[in-house]
Amino acid sequence: MTAAPPRTLTVVMSSDLLTLSRVCGLLRRRNLAVREFNVDSTGQLGFWRMSCAIDTDDATVESLLLQFQNVVGVRKATSSPPDPLSLRERGASPSIPGDIMGSAVRVYYEADTDRARLRDRVFAIIGYGSQGHAHAQNLRDSGARVIVGLRPGGASWKQAVVDGLEVHPVAEAAQAADVIMILVPDPAQRAVYETAVAPALGVGKTLMFAHGFNIHFGEIAPPPGVDVSMIAPKSPGHLVRSEYQAGRGVPALVAIHQDASANALPNALAYATGIGCARAGVLATTFAEETETDLFGEQAVLCGGVTALIQAGFETLTDAGYAPEMAYFECLHELKLIVDLIYRGGLGFMRHSISDTAEYGDLTRGDRVISPAVREEMRRLLADIRSGAFAKEWIAECRAGAPRFAELRRKAQQHPIEQVGRFAELRRKAQQHPIEQVGARLRAMMPWTEEGKRAKQKPAPSKQPPPEREAARA
Ligand code: NAD
Ligand code: MG
Repeated sequence: MTAAPPRTLTVVMSSDLLTLSRVCGLLRRRNLAVREFNVDSTGQLGFWRMSCAIDTDDATVESLLLQFQNVVGVRKATSSPPDPLSLRERGASPSIPGDIMGSAVRVYYEADTDRARLRDRVFAIIGYGSQGHAHAQNLRDSGARVIVGLRPGGASWKQAVVDGLEVHPVAEAAQAADVIMILVPDPAQRAVYETAVAPALGVGKTLMFAHGFNIHFGEIAPPPGVDVSMIAPKSPGHLVRSEYQAGRGVPALVAIHQDASANALPNALAYATGIGCARAGVLATTFAEETETDLFGEQAVLCGGVTALIQAGFETLTDAGYAPEMAYFECLHELKLIVDLIYRGGLGFMRHSISDTAEYGDLTRGDRVISPAVREEMRRLLADIRSGAFAKEWIAECRAGAPRFAELRRKAQQHPIEQVGRFAELRRKAQQHPIEQVGARLRAMMPWTEEGKRAKQKPAPSKQPPPEREAARA
């Protein structure tokens, strides 16, 4: 573990025990060794200062500070020695009243938002893909005036018109709008912003994003008089639309990068109501936190981690001589069943549903797969994200026309698991053909066929025999 000297965290909060207990709750959940702990008066009526010395690393200090900042009643959270990237530089959300759930993260619901802010403002949705089509139609159906900004002649232009929306070239839409939501792909955003959006920005306008990458890494630097906020739905666009239509919504994140009007938050929350997200809950975050956790999640767990784990498991089995089809089913195909259970009810729900053998293997072996060395590598991935090294690499790759990306994609397609997958899928489809189902039933009536032989050996006619096991292949 860490050998660094203890860090002192100081939190200035309103003088009430509830705020103090929420702050302590955050500390307790981390299970850190607390060396010193003090609560005293700041000298200012109505405020306390809590300070504690803990043994931990920079990353934990930083994430704790961020969590403290999000506790209702906390004025300021600092560390000494100071955190390398102070919260102010990293765009921590300003302290605004709101609701909380069990943890310290603020969650806003429809009742906390002011729907009237959707009226009398023109919303330009730039891009009409996964997110764009959902935001534009939901806002319109919520009574807002919506225009869509696109490249003339593009495929999504026709679709937006078919969906009954008013469509303009990006520059015109940005010019006509009070609120401009950028929903073109992240690598394209800077160019679209520079050529068509920046010229339309002026005091009183609002620039919005559904992901913080370009603002956080400085690719887009809006002028000072403009509000810059984020509403990031935590789901693909088709769900943003279908949940809205069903009278529900998907959760979203809200963050404020620039609050020129002093109304950036209520305006952003009204947008969240307009697309249905406030029905489910809107969690307060910062551009820094959203961007860094999003990149980390997709690299270490959701995309990079999972695909590498599947491939490594597949290779381990096939290298040991097992059939690639078996390896495919065990390491890839069945993942969906497990993830569906986790999605429904968390890890505990999944463990409750699997066999005791599987659960015992899970509980005793999982940590051996994700070994200390793997965790160390995860921390390095996070460090590259936070230093901007990953962003720099990806932006340079995109500017160069993404040659390495294309090559990596091509190679990934050639991995044996992809070939087996296609074959297994073909085989499965072929086996499901009605002729196979009917054939098996008919053959069971004919003792000289394979099914017929099995039917004859059947002990109890009322019960189906277990399927014959294939001979061991290894
Ligand atoms: P997408 O690729 O589905 O759609 C992009 C749209 O932009 C298309 O209509 C395309 O025609 C248009 N477009 C592309 N280049 C353009 C250009 N140069 N000028 C004008 N229009 C252009 O994108 P998406 O997945 O909806 O992502 C949009 C934003 O939403 C991104 O910031 C992304 O990170 C964020 N986001 C996406 C998801 C998701 O699940 N897809 C979830 C949350 C946030
Ligand atoms: Mg994500």
